[in-house]
Amino acid sequence: MTQPPAHDPERPIFGRYEKMRPDDLAAMVSRSPVAYWPLGLLEHHGWHLPIGFDGLKADGLCERLAERVGGVILPTMWWGGGGGHHVFKWTHYQSQSAYSEIVTTTIRQLFDDGFRAIVVLAGHYPWQQTLDQIIPPLRDQFADRLLLAGTELTIGGDLGLAGDHAALEETSYGLALFPDLVDMKAMTSGRGEDVWPQSGPPAASDRHPAVEFDPAKPRFAQMGEDSRMASGARGTQAAETLLTALQQQLDDFLSP
Ligand SMILES: [Zn+2]
Repeated sequence: MTQPPAHDPERPIFGRYEKMRPDDLAAMVSRSPVAYWPLGLLEHHGWHLPIGFDGLKADGLCERLAERVGGVILPTMWWGGGGGHHVFKWTHYQSQSAYSEIVTTTIRQLFDDGFRAIVVLAGHYPWQQTLDQIIPPLRDQFADRLLLAGTELTIGGDLGLAGDHAALEETSYGLALFPDLVDMKAMTSGRGEDVWPQSGPPAASDRHPAVEFDPAKPRFAQMGEDSRMASGARGTQAAETLLTALQQQLDDFLSP
């Protein structure tokens, strides 16, 4: 195995797309032609996690991967949809045609501009259905490039990782990646019906059977094992498993 070139401390190993000038981007693409795109959603993630949890999780994982491999992180794609949380307040689901069009067009443009590998990491699991539709034709069109796409459960292949909604697994990622934005004490009980948007509580037919819909319960809006058992160590371990697998795939593809 060849040693990677020593990193020049004068040059950042990765950048944020929106903060880079055209010359910065050109230099980065010639050095580390990898783009990372976190796909998120604005959606109620329980009382203890931020509304942008899925995108923050994806961005946090992308940043840690970019620290190892280099490249450019795109601004998080906040607009998405799919899933059972559209009935919760502060949640924004868009039409699938709108967001799938944006993702498809942008991936084409990134490849046309010279990126050789793109990591499209979705923090919101229903993105998977959209990716399953739009990614195969893009892989055909750009057959000499690497397009890694999926949620943290799928993008690295079967790594035995688990997922949920704002429960044990996602809360652990939050505690590992952005502990300042997590407030475990916010999971209070005894809240009333005023938690719902103006349209009121959802009909029984609109309630996912595994999601907690009782506002009086501290784990309101969550789905999965008890979030109060979450830990940063658990999240770090899951992240490490994923990052190791993705770094390997990128290194294999980029090594001459
Ligand atoms: Zn989530």
